[in-house]
Amino acid sequence: MRLGAHISTAGGAFKAFQRAREETCDTLLIFTKSNRQWAAKPLSDEDIANYRRAAAEYPDLRPVAVHAAYLINVASPDPELWEKSFLALKDEVERAGALEADFVTFHPGSYMTGGEQAGLEAIARAVGRLLEETAASAPHTVVCLETMAGQGTNLGGMFEHLAYILNQVGPNDRLGVCFDTCHVFAAGYDIRTPETYAATMAEFDRVIGLDKIRCFHFNDSKHELGSMKDRHEHIGRGQIGLAGFANFINDPRWADFAAHLETEPTMEGEDGVTINMNHVNLAALRELKITD
Ligand SMILES: [Zn+2]
Repeated sequence: MRLGAHISTAGGAFKAFQRAREETCDTLLIFTKSNRQWAAKPLSDEDIANYRRAAAEYPDLRPVAVHAAYLINVASPDPELWEKSFLALKDEVERAGALEADFVTFHPGSYMTGGEQAGLEAIARAVGRLLEETAASAPHTVVCLETMAGQGTNLGGMFEHLAYILNQVGPNDRLGVCFDTCHVFAAGYDIRTPETYAATMAEFDRVIGLDKIRCFHFNDSKHELGSMKDRHEHIGRGQIGLAGFANFINDPRWADFAAHLETEPTMEGEDGVTINMNHVNLAALRELKITD
């Protein structure tokens, strides 16, 4: 697999490439704007030119995935919030398109005071309109619904939720799923042994279709199977464990797919020494690869 991590774009998106190289990444996941704010100033021609120059300097750092802001909630029952979310999501995809990013991953959303069904319909409506309205501005950017832990009124914890949205929108090459190991596990799908992994993948295939998976988030889980709690842990230090990740790493179906860490990039070790956790996590994952 192509392994990478969430990389900071502080100082400009173009800076992510050199940082990703330093973090030993093969691929990177970035935010193109603050992940906790609605608005961002548009990318300038200079921003885009700088980014494209850096992308050309590091042609082996691919694919580039963009994570949409966390505030976006296109499952919202509030029409104003829905519209605001839709426009913010469209802006994310257009920014990603300007940077020729391969993927934009977003959290399907929370139905809040509405119902589950209404929430799913609201998401499908947003995604359908999104794909249509960004077909020209982001023709090569695939929009990915992320699998979720199922916390609270969050949608996307059950494979059926994602299947419903994908079916409502209809077949589209620019629409797929981002499989987050922590979220899927917390939602109740076991992946820790070859048998449970195979069963979960078979279930995903039956409900959604494995061909819909476009990229992965590799996070271990602080909480146990089925906890519905979304708390990432470093690889091998949580409830999934190294054996769970070995199932993905050695699955030939994912050989060319990208997986990104979304954990803290550093940790304070003994004696106050800063440990680069991206290095540690990526090395741990690479060691799981069985070669003959
Ligand atoms: Zn994730």
